Amino acid sequence: MSALPELTLTEAQSVAESIIGRCSWRGAEAYIQCPGIKHHTNANSGTDCKVVCERIGNLAPGIYCFHGSCETEVAAASRALRSALGKRSSSKPQLRGNTPVVIRAKAPKFNPAKLAQIAAKLPGIDATWFAARSPKQPDNRTPASFLHNLYQPGENVVVFDVFESQGQALWTHRGVPFDARELDCFTTGKTHGVWFLANPVTGQYLPNDNGHSSRRSWQNVTCWRYLVIESDSANPAHWLAALAQLPIPIAAIYTSGGKSIHALVRIDAESKEHWNEQAEQLKPALITLGADRKAISAVRLTRLPGCERVEKGKVQTLLYLNGNPDETPICELTVNAPFAGQWEEAGQ
Ligand SMILES: [Zn+2]
Repeated sequence: MSALPELTLTEAQSVAESIIGRCSWRGAEAYIQCPGIKHHTNANSGTDCKVVCERIGNLAPGIYCFHGSCETEVAAASRALRSALGKRSSSKPQLRGNTPVVIRAKAPKFNPAKLAQIAAKLPGIDATWFAARSPKQPDNRTPASFLHNLYQPGENVVVFDVFESQGQALWTHRGVPFDARELDCFTTGKTHGVWFLANPVTGQYLPNDNGHSSRRSWQNVTCWRYLVIESDSANPAHWLAALAQLPIPIAAIYTSGGKSIHALVRIDAESKEHWNEQAEQLKPALITLGADRKAISAVRLTRLPGCERVEKGKVQTLLYLNGNPDETPICELTVNAPFAGQWEEAGQ
């Protein structure tokens, strides 16, 4: 192979920048705008595409994009990068001839065996187990007292009993004291159950991306606090055991009244773009464990606990509530004293 000397990291970085422009490097890699971004057919995030300027493990130098529709541009940019780096950057023969080598970042997939393996570390956990570790007692919450724990005074939350609608109620956090019965009209008799929009909104109708008047679009969101994860495919017991071990700030866990269990993860993003970046970082691990890929979106309806879902003959049930979560996994939280909180009024 080549007798030329290896490039230093700084040299490799500057060669890469001569192809794709200035980057903010983390070692040999940097997130970049995809050279084929105009062909993307799904929403973009800042972590979709990266450049690698020297070999990292078995990742060869090149451009890697999560999207598939930009393949031609990504391949061309990769080829240009490798050609500029020359054969000097690696003594391995993977850069033979002119054959473009495009390795797209693999989309993560649900791995039930991996989930089962993680779940096995925490067998037999159930509603009682979560209640014992829940900073707020879950079984005496009304829908309004649930929301009161998760939002700030003045914030508005849209509540729905028709999924494809603009919402049947706008609940406003009124500080204290408040009426914990405010949303009790939703607790019974709703055929398909009840939802709320996970992030707070202005409460006004604004034009959305399609030019329609909406109060449930990204234009309405006032704070990018939460990300919803749910799984339709995971074994529910395994999914719960995994949620209990995840080192992410989980604010609430509740059932859908069907087979799914939702978790509200607090990410406190500063903007929609920041929300997308954080979501992209969490996605591979969460999707591997069974989180529904499509459900991880910035403007998301999720089940409101304490409400009946008549079609299933079940109640959407709160299992865990922590208005101020950190990254401590739930399984490492202190177990509440027996019956602690039993005298706590639902409205506090
Ligand atoms: Zn791309």
